[in-house]
Amino acid sequence: MFKAVLIDKDDAGYRARLTELADDALPEGNVSVRVAWSTLNYKDGLAITGKMPVVRKFPMVPGIDLAGTVEASSHPEVRVGDAVVLNGWGVGETHWGGLAQRARLDGDWLVPLPAAFSARQAMAIGTAGYTAMLCVLALERHGVTPDQGEVLVTGAAGGVGSVAVALLARLGYTVVASTGRPEEAGYLKTLGAAEIIERDTLSAPGKPLGKERWAGAVDTVGSHTLANVCAGMRYRGTVAACGLAQGMDFPATVAPFILRGVTLAGVDSVMAPRDLRLQAWQRLARDLDVALLDAITSEIGLSETIDTAPRLLAGQVRGRVVVDVN
Ligand code: NDP
Repeated sequence: MFKAVLIDKDDAGYRARLTELADDALPEGNVSVRVAWSTLNYKDGLAITGKMPVVRKFPMVPGIDLAGTVEASSHPEVRVGDAVVLNGWGVGETHWGGLAQRARLDGDWLVPLPAAFSARQAMAIGTAGYTAMLCVLALERHGVTPDQGEVLVTGAAGGVGSVAVALLARLGYTVVASTGRPEEAGYLKTLGAAEIIERDTLSAPGKPLGKERWAGAVDTVGSHTLANVCAGMRYRGTVAACGLAQGMDFPATVAPFILRGVTLAGVDSVMAPRDLRLQAWQRLARDLDVALLDAITSEIGLSETIDTAPRLLAGQVRGRVVVDVN
């Protein structure tokens, strides 16, 4: 038997609960993992609360991230005892996920735990941190360099935002952090932000083009914020767009793209190819100051995930949440 969060949807409604499951209830898969740590991401919040239709099959064990040790494997490249990390691939949405003490998965989805990190640290990074790195890689791919000027991070005090601020600052960029929580200014400065701006300056409907300010941007928020970020980009700047914390809409014009050559680079972590994942984890091992992870991370137990989910969606949780599943 093992403990897990389980989401049901039936005539009695949509609900998440902590329960005990038998090993033979686990889904098909060629690798079994004893989970050491998991995390709570924005998407896990959506899954647990049912606020958006993230979960596609019921009952579902949520949790888009896990780190643990392989207990059984018939996959040619995954061995018993391997320390592994999993992010995405529809786990916690269409396949049982990481908010449990055990998981059975496709070995192709696993990446080796980088030597630079403990399992807990890898989960402090989690999908949010790995996505922040994918955003940084996207900016680099489009030629954004520290000497070009300020880079903006929106939703900066959240999980993706916090890691993005820390990474970009460490890489020498001048980072401006946008937050709705001015009380987190000290925290964001600790992570390396040079300046803090109020979320409200970006979240209301704005003009098609504004003053050219940002050489690059990481947007975790979407909606009017993303439209305003695009409108405030410098000539040939790049925005890495990964999130929808304000909304899924994108009420923008083409003006920044056709008049300033701005690039809107979409970032998806879920189905990202394995090579890119390995590159992102390698770069996290090189470029993330692990000493900052403690400041970024809070820890909860499996039973606390259900109450924490709505607070996370309400933007009340700072940085990252690791889940001790044991
Ligand atoms: P968090 O909840 O940790 O952070 C989101 C942050 O967005 C909040 O902390 C808050 O930051 C800001 N925010 C919240 N509500 C609003 C609002 N109404 N208007 C403007 N800003 C708001 O989530 P994550 O960091 O885990 O994820 C961030 C986003 O990125 C989510 O939308 C998530 O779905 C998406 N995501 C996408 C991935 C991909 O593969 N594309 C992977 C991972 C995440 P502050 O208080 O500083 O303003």
